[in-house]
Amino acid sequence: RQKGSGRNGHCVFDVQFGQEAARQLEVKELISEALKHDWFELYYQPIVHLNERSIVGFEGLLRLVHPDMGILPPREYITVAEQTGSILEIGDRVLRLGMRALKELEQQPDWQDAYVTLNLSAAQFRRELPDTLARYLAQHDLVGDRLVLEITETTLMQNSADLDGLIEDIRKLGCALALDDFGTGFSSLSYMNRLHVDTVKIDRSFVQGLGDTSNKDASGKTAPLVEAIVGLSEKLDLTVIAEGIETEEQLGSLTQRNVRFGQGFLFGEAKPLDVWLNGPLKSRSSRYALPDLKELEA
Ligand code: C2E
Ligand code: MG
Ligand code: MG
Ligand code: MG
Repeated sequence: RQKGSGRNGHCVFDVQFGQEAARQLEVKELISEALKHDWFELYYQPIVHLNERSIVGFEGLLRLVHPDMGILPPREYITVAEQTGSILEIGDRVLRLGMRALKELEQQPDWQDAYVTLNLSAAQFRRELPDTLARYLAQHDLVGDRLVLEITETTLMQNSADLDGLIEDIRKLGCALALDDFGTGFSSLSYMNRLHVDTVKIDRSFVQGLGDTSNKDASGKTAPLVEAIVGLSEKLDLTVIAEGIETEEQLGSLTQRNVRFGQGFLFGEAKPLDVWLNGPLKSRSSRYALPDLKELEA
C-alpha cells in the first residue's frame, strides 16, 4: 500500500477497494479462461463407513486445473463466480462431470452402489434444476438414486418460493439431498425434516472441537452439540456424515457418539476418480477397503 494512504479513512478505503476490485477482475478473467479452455475438473474425496473403514461414496469437489498455476481449490473463485453469475455455467459443468463419474462407477462391478455427492450454490437451486438433472441423467443412461445434492442452510433460506415443490421434483428423480456445513447456518432440524432432507453433514468446525481438550474447545460444548445433532437425526431418520476428520482421536470420538459416516484427510483428500478406482484399491480383495495412504502417495 502507498505510503501516507492511511492519513484519512477514505483514502485507505479507496486503496483497499481498488485492490479488491482489481483482484476480483483478475479472478473473473481466470474463470472465463477456465470455462473457455475446459480447465474445471472434479476431484473426489471418499465418504467412509467409519466402523468398517470402507468407501460408500465420493464428494465431488471443484478444482481449476491451470496449466501454469496448478490445481486451484474453489474458495476464492466460487465467491466471485457467485457474484458474477458464472456459477451457473460452472455448476452445469459440475453436473456433467458428476454424471460421468456416476457412469464410471456404475461400469465397474465393485463400485456399482457407490454414490456421488455434488455441491450446489444457491443460484443453481432453482426451478430449472430438476429438468436439467433429468436430461443429464437420461443422456448418461442413469437413474438418480446414486446422486446426492449438497446444499447449505443459506441456500434453503434464500429460496422461499415453492421450495417444497422444487425439492419434491428433485426427489422424484431419485436424488437425495444433504445439508452441508450443518450447524453453521440458521435452519432447524424440524425445518429440514419438513423439506425432506436425507442427510446432514456435520461441519468440520465441530469435528475439530472433538477430542480436543485444549484451545479449540475451551468451553467443552462441542461434544454435547454433536450428540444433540446425532440424537435428533436418529429420531428424524436422517443420515449423518461428519466432515473434516483428521485424527484417530476425532474418529473415535465420533464413532463413540454413533456417527456412522465421515470424510476427511485421515481417510484421504480429494483426488481424480481414476486414482481411487485404478490405484491400489483395484488390487484389494475387499472392494471398498481403504488403501494405505502411503501406498496411494507412492
Ligand atoms: P465443502 O462442500 O464443505 O467441502 C469440504 C471442504 O473441506 C473441501 O474443500 C475439502 O477439500 C475440505 N476438507 C475435506 N477434508 C478435510 C480435512 O480433513 N481437513 C480440512 N482442513 N479440510 C478438509 P474445498 O475442496 O477447497 O472446497 C471448499 C468449498 O467450496 C466446499 O466446502 C464447497 O462449499 C465449495 N465447493 C466445492 N466444490 C464445489 C462445486 O462444485 N460447486 C459449488 N457451488 N461449490 C463447491
Ligand atoms: Mg460439500
Ligand atoms: Mg461441507
Ligand atoms: Mg464445511
